[in-house]
Amino acid sequence: MRKKLALLILGLFFCLFTGCAVNPITGEEELMLFPEEQDIAIGRQYAPEIEKQMGGRIPDPVLQNYVDSVGQNVARVSHKPYLEYSFVALNDKSVNAFALPGGAVFVTKGMLEKLDSEAQLAAILSHEVTHIVARDVSNAMSNQIGINLLLSAVTSEKTPQSILTIADLTQQIVGLKYSRKDEMEADLGGLHYMVKAGYNPHGMVETMQMLQNQNQIRPIEFLSSHPSPENRIAYLMEAIQTKYYNLAGLKIAKEDYYQSVLSQLNK
Ligand SMILES: [Zn+2]
Repeated sequence: MRKKLALLILGLFFCLFTGCAVNPITGEEELMLFPEEQDIAIGRQYAPEIEKQMGGRIPDPVLQNYVDSVGQNVARVSHKPYLEYSFVALNDKSVNAFALPGGAVFVTKGMLEKLDSEAQLAAILSHEVTHIVARDVSNAMSNQIGINLLLSAVTSEKTPQSILTIADLTQQIVGLKYSRKDEMEADLGGLHYMVKAGYNPHGMVETMQMLQNQNQIRPIEFLSSHPSPENRIAYLMEAIQTKYYNLAGLKIAKEDYYQSVLSQLNK
């Protein structure tokens, strides 16, 4: 009991000096090791590196504009519409999508090839937007990489060459792992955003089913924490049946996706 109280007091002090923030997805107070403004600096620092490491941007303005516009549709209705979001398609064969703190979201060519509707793309992007809004990315980075290392690379002229190169850091960022709780929040929060943006929520279920059938060595961000697959589909279906059962007018847009993504990739 005493130990608990001591921990609580310690926690409170820690919050006072380091800052706590309310997670808008859950409404819960969460301990944050650095302020939100720092998210943007970290995102800006690492976004070009990530692009470089992951094959660069797919050189197709039609495809890039489309991916960005679908992402912006979702970001606009999120709890943090004021962030500067960017949604970029990378020329990488792996099936993946991931986010940086502050608003940068990436989706790979491998992933785009596996999708077949705008609603499915919206599902992937809204899951990532939710990780950004809840600051899961910032938390995972500070826990798994160490905030001092990240910030020293951002703030100092010299990169911490002796410890880790920016390239090493980038690899770690791409391989960040989220907790099951974070993944579930990103699924359900993402589902909420995509419906709010006018997309049919079944796109999220279809995407999860597709990802579960992937056999690739590199872990997929969505599956990095391995929430039990049946479980994931089950809670998504339950949310659809209880909250989003009115599907009238919600967009699937297979044809748009084909025109702007699949046919562009096959050119
Ligand atoms: Zn995720």
